[in-house]
Amino acid sequence: MATTAARAALDLVLPPRCLGCGDRVASQGELCARCWTGLRWIEEPCCACCGRPFEHEIEPGAQCGACMAEPPSYDRARAAFAYDPQSRGLVLGFKHGDRLETAEFLAGTLARAGRRLLVEADTIAPVPLHRLRLWWRTYNQAAVLSAMLARRFAKPHAAQAIRRRRHTRSQGRLSSAERRANLRGAFVVPERARQELRGRRVLLIDDVMTTGATVEACAKALLGAGAGAVDVLTAARVLRADSPSL
Ligand SMILES: [Zn+2]
Ligand SMILES: [Zn+2]
Repeated sequence: MATTAARAALDLVLPPRCLGCGDRVASQGELCARCWTGLRWIEEPCCACCGRPFEHEIEPGAQCGACMAEPPSYDRARAAFAYDPQSRGLVLGFKHGDRLETAEFLAGTLARAGRRLLVEADTIAPVPLHRLRLWWRTYNQAAVLSAMLARRFAKPHAAQAIRRRRHTRSQGRLSSAERRANLRGAFVVPERARQELRGRRVLLIDDVMTTGATVEACAKALLGAGAGAVDVLTAARVLRADSPSL
């Protein structure tokens, strides 16, 4: 009752805003109807490995052409929704509302999309954020999400499992081959983290997956450091026409 009253009082001072576009909504931590219906949820059927959605029903366990041609180091990657102009505001939009509320909302989408991966994980770890990127993203959203999920699923959280060794060029305009070259050797698993990862199934968390080059490089570093297997779970995923086709 007290909480409800406090919330109502707070809503008078700070009216609830959509986590995506900043429009007024009924209560805190929500999307407006337009942003909600604009999200493209990623669902089955999808590639058993990278999670890329298939347009047609396929047999369970089938993989896309890209994964068959060049198997990723990770076992399975899954994402909750497509990263596109409709979801961009939600993923990057900490201007609107509370960052923690956005993180909680995103963690909820990850918990639904990646339930199986979360349940089967031994350890949960975030993709690290480079120091030099902190000027525009002032904190590591991946680490906030992975901490929330580790708590929710009662799993160990290896917050410092991976370190970015050097400043990589911005990935924005690079082809996927260039991205891989750019990221080669960019991630290391510190000596003190190796013990807790040995033989473990590690679930890597990030906010957005673009070409998959970053999670691939992180998965390689984890496996090289003795992890038993790596899965990947992201809130959003780029599904571009120019990414490898089926
Ligand atoms: Zn909105
Ligand atoms: Zn695939």
